[in-house]
Amino acid sequence: MASMTMTRALALAEKAGLKVAGATTINGTRVYAVPSHSDAGHVHLVTIANGVAECDCKGYQYRGLCSHAAVAYAAYEMEVKADAARRQAAADAADREDAASAYADDNGFDRGDYLEYRGM
Ligand SMILES: [Zn+2]
Repeated sequence: MASMTMTRALALAEKAGLKVAGATTINGTRVYAVPSHSDAGHVHLVTIANGVAECDCKGYQYRGLCSHAAVAYAAYEMEVKADAARRQAAADAADREDAASAYADDNGFDRGDYLEYRGM
């Protein structure tokens, strides 16, 4: 049984031009559709649960990793990073709002007064 690293699997996937064609969430599990490289018209389904990617192809059954799982996992990581960035931006905005409210309270005016002062 040949061993394969995620890095090597991803390199093979990129060489073969494999890309995630679609993704959805079913019962909390991310599912990615990755078109087969060898069998045109066939799509492999990769599920990612608890950070582990599993593919329905034979390669995955033999090696526990395949190029489909690699591209799906790479897409999943990008989604996780984008989610974290969105959450951080929302938290930063909330912090700014809190700071503005605290400043207004400390200085004896409320938001309504401020908006009136600004002619809004
Ligand atoms: Zn596969």
